[in-house]
Amino acid sequence: MTRCAMRVQAVRNILMTIKETVMTNSAAPHLLPVFARADIGFERGEGVWLIATNGDRYLDFTSGVAVNALGHAHPALVKALQEQATKLWHMSNLFQSPDGEKLAARLCSESFADFVFFCNSGAEALEGVIKLVRHHHFSKGHPERYRIITFEGAFHGRTLATLAATGSAKYLEGYGPPMEGFDQIPHGDIEAVKKAIGPHTAGILIEPIQGEGGVRSAPPGFLKALRQLCDEKGLLLAFDEVQTGMGRTGDLFAHRRTGVTPDVMSLAKALGGGFPIGAILATADAAAGMGPGSHGSTFGGNPLAIAAANAVLDVMLKPGFFDHVQKMSLLLKQKLASVIDRHPDIVSEIRGEGLLIGIKAVVPSGDLVAALRNEKLLTVGAGDNVVRFLPPLIVTEAEIEDSIGRLERACTTLSGNKRAAS
Ligand SMILES: *Cc1c(COP(=O)(O)O)cnc(C)c1O
Repeated sequence: MTRCAMRVQAVRNILMTIKETVMTNSAAPHLLPVFARADIGFERGEGVWLIATNGDRYLDFTSGVAVNALGHAHPALVKALQEQATKLWHMSNLFQSPDGEKLAARLCSESFADFVFFCNSGAEALEGVIKLVRHHHFSKGHPERYRIITFEGAFHGRTLATLAATGSAKYLEGYGPPMEGFDQIPHGDIEAVKKAIGPHTAGILIEPIQGEGGVRSAPPGFLKALRQLCDEKGLLLAFDEVQTGMGRTGDLFAHRRTGVTPDVMSLAKALGGGFPIGAILATADAAAGMGPGSHGSTFGGNPLAIAAANAVLDVMLKPGFFDHVQKMSLLLKQKLASVIDRHPDIVSEIRGEGLLIGIKAVVPSGDLVAALRNEKLLTVGAGDNVVRFLPPLIVTEAEIEDSIGRLERACTTLSGNKRAAS
């Protein structure tokens, strides 16, 4: 592309963004315009498909950003929620919660954890993780140990504490001094971790695979090395599995496939299959000090949310569920590799595990997401110029084949645009 053509393209991109923003605002003049919403609205969903208000059918490889793991309107989830809706919506944490205890017990028996705290979102789960890590050391007589090591490219949420943990200058700008207590270092750099550990360090917080950051896995052996460091120094290891958890990477939790066990973990996104619920999981030792009054939530453990999450587990824990995810993962990766072979000018690299798949775009990732949307395939952008393919975990072979046809057409269109511009 000539410099002139590049400038023209850059101006075009800006105009597109302005146009999208204007369209967004005119379609929803009262929604705080913090999202660059595409100009499509959806009326209902069926499995992997979303039906727009104008009747168009879209293949949904966003899953509401890794939330609708069982697709849309899954009969078991619909039934569970309908039944619960006639019984009890909300109940406060002043009383017992038999179904909450049941869900917690199941999550514990599937993991390293002894205790679960339910909340309502990913950021809220991470807030709790941060508090729990600090309180662990406080209760052991070390209130000075409050700092948490995090990694560049991380995403832990949009509240003030989780933003500070995320450490992204772009998201922090304009919101006053970031909350104290986070030391961010380059992703995957074990020497930097060692250097960052000091007398104030309480723990290390990491996503087993960075989702928003661009589907970036830690280098081999990195999580294990973190575990060893934490054991040596008496630190807590916290995994943020808000995106990687609940089957997304081909097992119930991503870390189960690495053989490394954390002391604390956050869950949210797919936990309720689309109903808002988050959770903190912790060992008894990590949670030492979290007694009555030390943390709380009005809606946390809401009966509707608990019913949805128990129904999600009913489906996911059936024999063969994760085998299916892994099989679909392999197929999708193979098919994507062949598209990369045919369109190296548009896409260049496949990342991720299970059905948390990223393809690195050669063109601006937003252009690829838009071209795919034109082909009625919905995907999600991520950092590092990556486009995420996050199909519901119940996706079939035929639907994966279908998505590849759409990707192929989008790439052909983008190649044509590129040639026309040069
Ligand atoms: C989405 C996400 C969060 C934040 O979850 P919210 O429900 O949006 O607050 C935190 N951590 C990770 C890894 C995520 O992917």
